[in-house]
Amino acid sequence: MDDCIFCKILKGEIPSSKIYEDEFTIAFLDIMPVNKGHALVIPKGHYETLLDIPEKELCAWIKTVQKVSGAVMKATGAGGFNLGMNNFKVSGQLVPHAHMHIIPRFGDDGLKHWGQGNYEEEEMKGFEEKIKESLK
Ligand code: 5GP
Ligand code: ZN
Repeated sequence: MDDCIFCKILKGEIPSSKIYEDEFTIAFLDIMPVNKGHALVIPKGHYETLLDIPEKELCAWIKTVQKVSGAVMKATGAGGFNLGMNNFKVSGQLVPHAHMHIIPRFGDDGLKHWGQGNYEEEEMKGFEEKIKESLK
């Protein structure tokens, strides 16, 4: 897609710190890392969100995520890593080309997980049923 920043990175029209490439995917460093070594993995096809990626590319993409995650951990000496993916604008997705964030984690990095809440009585059952119905 012509005005997509990640498609431009793919085509080499914008420079990037590319760390991996295969038939269906590439990985490069995020320009504004949460922690240093923060990498992004994208399918080569321009798919906007997780929901749009066809099965073959999806499988290739998650394999690349696994491979690059191990390399990021090894290279940075991280004790772990978070995977994160924003889907659709309301979730915080700024670049509309599907991408997985690989964020290396260190014991003293001060990052916090998102907040968690509770359900009212019976409320959880309602969500369970609606989601199960939506899977049909
Ligand atoms: P999103 O909010 O869409 O999940 O994340 C987009 C990510 O892309 C951000 O973390 C941002 O720092 C990164 N990013 C945006 N523009 C560029 C760029 O031109 N090059 C690289 N390497 N990363 C970018
Ligand atoms: Zn794109």
